[in-house]
Amino acid sequence: MQGIVTNIQRFSVHDGPGIRTTVFLKGCNLRCFWCHNPEDINPKPEIQFFPERCILCAACVESCVHAAHSMDNGDHIFQRERCTACGDCIDACYAKAVVLVGETMPAEAVVAEVVQDQAFYASSGGGVTLSGGEPLLQLDFSCVVLARCRELGIHTAIETAANFPWSRLASILPHVDLVMMDIKHMDSRRHRQSTGVPNERILENAASLGRQPQPLIIRTPVIPGVNDAAEDIAAIAEFVVTLPNLLYYELLPYHPMADSKYRSLDRPNRAAGLAPPSADKMAELVAAAAAAGVVVRTG
Ligand code: SF4
Ligand code: SF4
Repeated sequence: MQGIVTNIQRFSVHDGPGIRTTVFLKGCNLRCFWCHNPEDINPKPEIQFFPERCILCAACVESCVHAAHSMDNGDHIFQRERCTACGDCIDACYAKAVVLVGETMPAEAVVAEVVQDQAFYASSGGGVTLSGGEPLLQLDFSCVVLARCRELGIHTAIETAANFPWSRLASILPHVDLVMMDIKHMDSRRHRQSTGVPNERILENAASLGRQPQPLIIRTPVIPGVNDAAEDIAAIAEFVVTLPNLLYYELLPYHPMADSKYRSLDRPNRAAGLAPPSADKMAELVAAAAAAGVVVRTG
């Protein structure tokens, strides 16, 4: 069983309780315009090119049989449309200016990396989190990794947007100890405007997840102009407070950290110039959520 993994982040403290290893899987079926992990959207391996790191040594030009790299008057030209993501130029690039994002890995190799920090999970109440991207797009792989981790006594969590038929979620839940799910907006039209998909199925799945034995954390990335009005957050809080197994509701302020990632992938950053919400704005939104009677935290 193999999956396409973008990154395995050890000693993570933002993706569930305790010290965790977060496994980022490639591929997502939402198109949130503010996405800060654009390298996780495309389900296939792809090349990131960081021109600011390039020392113009031309080693990649020699290594690429598809002529995707070339030099033109001291400029490095990368023609992405020629690239098959074979990875041959990666080893050639001493400066790490070209990076292959998306490694095909056996489930056992992922588990072997997760297991290395088992002592830290035990002492901190941590474990493993599958994230992305959307881990449920690689459902069989995710199930195998989580099941194996659980057999080894490791706490398991998933981060999902839950934009699937319920059957997909139902099949992964037996391997999961904690579910973290995003709700971005209660208004389906506005949800579609900013994420590319409507929210009806997501909300139905949230209601079903709310009746499962696993604890549930609902999270909202706070995006200026999308959902940063008190009434936007209050509407979500009034919904999530009805979920019986809700652990807490978390507000995550937008952070503009992804610009160089977008450039490295030759994709426009549709959130360029968007400022993060202020501390006062976050306090206002926390108060709006708390007024609905929900336990609320900020990331
Ligand atoms: S990944 Fe392969 S095809 Fe793509 S640029 Fe590098 S060597 Fe060429
Ligand atoms: S091998 Fe790396 S540093 Fe050298 S030209 Fe290619 S991208 Fe630039």
